[in-house]
Amino acid sequence: TVGAVCLDTKDSMVAGTSTSGLFMKMQGRVGDSPLSGSGFYVDSEIGGASATGLGEDLMKGCLSYEIVRLMGEGLTPQAAADKAVYEFHDKLTRRKGKAGAMSLICMNTNGEWGVATNVEFPFVVATEKEKPKIYVARKG
Ligand code: ASP
Repeated sequence: TVGAVCLDTKDSMVAGTSTSGLFMKMQGRVGDSPLSGSGFYVDSEIGGASATGLGEDLMKGCLSYEIVRLMGEGLTPQAAADKAVYEFHDKLTRRKGKAGAMSLICMNTNGEWGVATNVEFPFVVATEKEKPKIYVARKG
């Protein structure tokens, strides 16, 4: 998956997610990536999020929407990502013994960003002032 959350100079936001799906997926499978709320979500008055990982689990939690909703309640992007991803990871683990890979990036209307993953996840941050910088997030 390649996902992005962007804020432009007019304070408009966009989130996008592109994927080839899962290896050996069943014909006709639709993962989380094209589904608003699961693979991506944006509200230009709050912020946006984009997801990668096991679509079947990401869809159950509508995690992109959940992160934006939490930012709308006043959480920082990092706190929103941590809360949504780790609480849902724990819930899936309690209910079915394991959780699939889930990694999400997010950003709010101030350009503050967050990331949470239950595996390991490389991502890039680029701003008007700084050159693109590569980070690696790990399960927190
Ligand atoms: N989330 C995608 C899917 O389940 C897979 C991926 O992240 O590459 O289709």
